[in-house]
Amino acid sequence: MSNPPPQRIDDHIINRDDLDNHAVEVVRTLKGAGFEAYLVGGCVRDLLCQMKPKDFDVATNATPTEVRTLFRRSRLIGRRFPIAHVRSGRELFEVSTFRQAQHDDIETNEHGLIVKDTAYGTAADDAFRRDFTINALYYDVESHEIIDYVGGIEDIVNKRLRFIGDPADRLAEDPVRMLRAIRFAAKLGFRIDDDIMALVDDTAERLDAIPGARLFDEFLKLFLSGYGEAAWQLLSSTPLAHSLFPSCDPDSEIVQAAMRNTDQRIAQDQPVTPGFLIAVLLWADFDARSREANPENKAGLVYDIATDTLAVQQQHIAIPRRFSTFAREVWQLQPRLIVRQPRNIRRVLSHKRFRAAFDFLCLRGLQDEALAELGQWWETLQTLERDDQQAMIDALPSTGKRRRSRRKRSGNRPSGTTQQES
Ligand code: ATP
Ligand code: MG
Repeated sequence: MSNPPPQRIDDHIINRDDLDNHAVEVVRTLKGAGFEAYLVGGCVRDLLCQMKPKDFDVATNATPTEVRTLFRRSRLIGRRFPIAHVRSGRELFEVSTFRQAQHDDIETNEHGLIVKDTAYGTAADDAFRRDFTINALYYDVESHEIIDYVGGIEDIVNKRLRFIGDPADRLAEDPVRMLRAIRFAAKLGFRIDDDIMALVDDTAERLDAIPGARLFDEFLKLFLSGYGEAAWQLLSSTPLAHSLFPSCDPDSEIVQAAMRNTDQRIAQDQPVTPGFLIAVLLWADFDARSREANPENKAGLVYDIATDTLAVQQQHIAIPRRFSTFAREVWQLQPRLIVRQPRNIRRVLSHKRFRAAFDFLCLRGLQDEALAELGQWWETLQTLERDDQQAMIDALPSTGKRRRSRRKRSGNRPSGTTQQES
């Protein structure tokens, strides 16, 4: 297949000062060894959109093994598409070898999904195997030109997300590209082409065939990159939300609010964890199961209910254990924050998930006045010195409960507090 000649654009807004020096160094080393090399993909796109790139990727005609021998601090990763990871300074760069889009050695499974693709090619070939036109721009650090094989510059100007090639084929090859479309639309404020959105129902079903670990990676990029609220808004207006999080109500107010909080925290350089979002996204399911559960059977109940909720979700997205444990702990603390047993308050306050559980309670407070007031109480408590805290604790109304006897656990608890407390 012969490709049309590319456009070479030197009149653009990218400034040499915006480039990462180490990335430029990697490109120069490759070129110095006689290879072709460019900055490519997200970094060129983001710079053209006047955004700060998350990372700088390099494309070259050197094979992964050749890259490996050129850079001492490098290693090869990936089986489906082997690429080199090169360390320079404190950063890590992905250096990928030009690949072909369509060729005879491409291995697809019975659904058209690519399983292996290692045929190397030219820069032009490489442009056409990329997903969106805006992701297929190459920047030459020496000539300062952008090389555009696919009309990506024009699409950036028009704020369009458009696949290279036929959308149905590109989505059949890799349905995750639909999630990528949502992510870039959210991040850049671009519009996804109608012929892509027309395929959203079909693609949502195809996501079932994607390994859960890959979907977890994509989940992180969607919701923990600083524009999760916009991404959730787009996602939840399609069946994609249901295929990723089947038990979550796409219109959930607390999910929306949690996404917004997360974005704000990222903007302020505060720490965020996927565990918290998992807790929020799966809360409705956990809460419904808790209400249905037999209140007589308390031992380990919360733990088991959480396990059920998480197990259903794990069939779709592989959540690493530390994050599912985080969600479970946040849920387990909810009744303890609500009951406020005076003798337990200090232990709750010093629990390693207290802060997250408190934030979670406040989110729930958006839909429940009584919980909002409890959130206020805990908020105040945290601002006080120890003595004043004790005064607040002493002023708590008695919960009217006897100490739990070892043999027989006490009977009915107030609503919402039916779970074992620790
Ligand atoms: P960011 O790093 O900001 O999330 P990015 O565009 O750099 O965005 P990466 O996942 O880092 O995204 O991928 C780098 C480049 O590789 C993309 O710009 C695109 O050209 C290509 N690419 C990535 N994933 C795919 C895919 N599933 N199908 C085709 N091309 C892809
Ligand atoms: Mg990238």
